Amino acid sequence: GSLLERMRFDKGRLSFPDKRVKAVNGVSFRIARGEVMALVGESGCGKSTVAKTIARIYRPTGGTIRIEGEDIAGYGVRELLPVRSRMQMIFQDPYASLNPRQRVRDIVAEPLLEQTTGAAARREVAERTLALLAKVGLNTEHAGRYPHQFSGGQRQRIGIARALSVNPGLIIADEPVSALDVSIQAQILNLMMDLRDEFGLAYLFISHDLSVVHHIADRVGVMYLGFLVETGPREHIFSAPRHPYTRALLSAAPSIEKTRSRPEIELKGEVPSALDLPSGCCFRTRCPLAFERCRLERPTLKPVGGGAEVACHLTDEPDRDRA
Ligand code: SF4
Ligand code: MG
Repeated sequence: GSLLERMRFDKGRLSFPDKRVKAVNGVSFRIARGEVMALVGESGCGKSTVAKTIARIYRPTGGTIRIEGEDIAGYGVRELLPVRSRMQMIFQDPYASLNPRQRVRDIVAEPLLEQTTGAAARREVAERTLALLAKVGLNTEHAGRYPHQFSGGQRQRIGIARALSVNPGLIIADEPVSALDVSIQAQILNLMMDLRDEFGLAYLFISHDLSVVHHIADRVGVMYLGFLVETGPREHIFSAPRHPYTRALLSAAPSIEKTRSRPEIELKGEVPSALDLPSGCCFRTRCPLAFERCRLERPTLKPVGGGAEVACHLTDEPDRDRA
């Protein structure tokens, strides 16, 4: 397990004070260029923590975060600056993440200006800003307005334009549509997919909503209590899930067509505290298939074929999987 420190903005300087936040464990995955990797799980499962750690808003005390082979896990604030042009983050509540006193053109230009000096470059940034606003469906007139003059969906468009400004390869999106009306959700998701196609973007997409994930993900990771319990291509997760927790989540999702390959599992009880993890398997206190070994031994992710990995002792003891 590793603890994390949250980056803080203090008197114009970014720093990592010694403030510790919730840990995540055994979380390991790759995202290929142009791929949409989704992390799903109930609130508090650690998916946002993973997102903010990869974005290096948190500093991990262990493990590696490799971008095109370069491990940025231990980078300090100064070393992280050039990394910002390779990955950017968008948030659930764009209003909270956009400076209310800045005009839209300045909000969108800011990440790029951090990496730019000189008057000619600034003129280029101004032009690029207007082009980016057009890409996300906003116009020149919008550029001079302030965040409060926009709807939630438009504000998310501004957040996306800002993220795109530095031409990143990866966008980390933490519940980017969950605060929006369903009709607006589809517009924003479609925009994100169009931009993926146009710019070859990869997304790490954090969501608690399986129907959204089903719509956009190439690959899915399922998290529970800070652990990645199952990961694989979308078809694996939605049509042939193996982990009892994944099966329970799908059973509880009304809008997802039910899999016929395995019986449904009903999710019972409360999520235990992450500060007081169960011994053995983190899911055993809620798992209807738990057996003795689950209390004694923590399962690790093991390949089960088709590019999927599952952390459950049932993968070694398939005869027990009768639920
Ligand atoms: Fe359930 Fe045991 Fe598998 Fe954990 S390891 S999910 S408790 S069967
Ligand atoms: Mg969250």
